[in-house]
Amino acid sequence: MWEFTSPKKIVFGEEALEYLKEIEGKKALVITGKTVRKLGFAEKVSKYLEEARIQAEIFDEVEPEPSIETIVEGAKLARDYNPDWLIGLGGGSNMDAAKAIWALYERPDIEVGAISPVEKLGLRKKAHLICIPTTSGSGSEATWATIITDSSSKTKLELASKELVPDIVILDPQLPKSMPPRLTADTGMDALVHSMEAYVNQWRNDFSDAMAIKAIKIIFEYLPRAYENPDDIEAREKMHIAATMSGLAFGNAQAGIAHSMGHALGATFKIPHGRTVGMLLPYVIKYSAKEAAGRYAEIARAIGIEAVTDEECVEELAQAVRALMKKVDLPLCAKDMGLDWETFTGELDELVSRAIVSSESITNPRVPDEEECKKLFTCAFNGEEVDF
Ligand SMILES: [Zn+2]
Repeated sequence: MWEFTSPKKIVFGEEALEYLKEIEGKKALVITGKTVRKLGFAEKVSKYLEEARIQAEIFDEVEPEPSIETIVEGAKLARDYNPDWLIGLGGGSNMDAAKAIWALYERPDIEVGAISPVEKLGLRKKAHLICIPTTSGSGSEATWATIITDSSSKTKLELASKELVPDIVILDPQLPKSMPPRLTADTGMDALVHSMEAYVNQWRNDFSDAMAIKAIKIIFEYLPRAYENPDDIEAREKMHIAATMSGLAFGNAQAGIAHSMGHALGATFKIPHGRTVGMLLPYVIKYSAKEAAGRYAEIARAIGIEAVTDEECVEELAQAVRALMKKVDLPLCAKDMGLDWETFTGELDELVSRAIVSSESITNPRVPDEEECKKLFTCAFNGEEVDF
């Protein structure tokens, strides 16, 4: 038995934020961070809520990679304030925080680490969740996962519950328009990797496939436009939609080894997530194609590659990803991210052991052992061809 989980409602297109004027309720808690607050979006959200006669409070303490302490603080504020709507506003970190704060607000008896697919949380007795992304990449608005950092042990808790999928998602292209080009590129590549990894994943299904393939087509067409011209509202809208579709794709299938390896590499060397997984993608395509050439060939043909054999399609697809990355000025190997060989090799064993235990490695079409994972990291460092 399979399940496709998605938000109940996705409101999208220009003026989508005005949907807030129509919701019913008494009090809303807007959960965001300082950067998004400075852009004026939290105030705009509050203003629309007031038009719906909903009182709004803003919690703007969410940091990038939110900590357990922040979640506990936000949940305490929610319990004192007693909202019937929680609104996650921002990038993946802010939306992840909103999900976890919501869980602890409704369930004061549990700790953050207790959020799990097998725990019945019984949410929606006190409040419902709206997610409003301001970047086009993480897909958190469409998934049942939340990543919270345990700062005492310096580990990331990858938590999930189907109950955490937001009730309403609002995709207004005016919000991502504020992203600088570098962030547009990083987050856009993240969305592409979500879709590509979902499409070839062992857990893929017909519903996730449909979301993934459409998102891939949109990203190849519109990411360069959004990067070159931040005010291109059509490109912003398309990228915003594609990021949510990618979230629906990998949220209902799984990501793959560009993610498990990317999480390890990004956390060790403090490199933005999208840049890391994007850099790894062409190497991962070549490696995984030994088990999934037909699937990659379908992607290649969907974006207009006219090669004859599946193997040629795979080769050209990897080249097309690199060409896209060049258009948005992203590095094609780890060496070009400013890492030096000695520091990298000093961490290599640790990177490998962290990557291969991840569920994202296990559901990849081809599952790497330690030796293969090490070779992949090394190719990705030096920009070498993957031929194994
Ligand atoms: Zn990602």
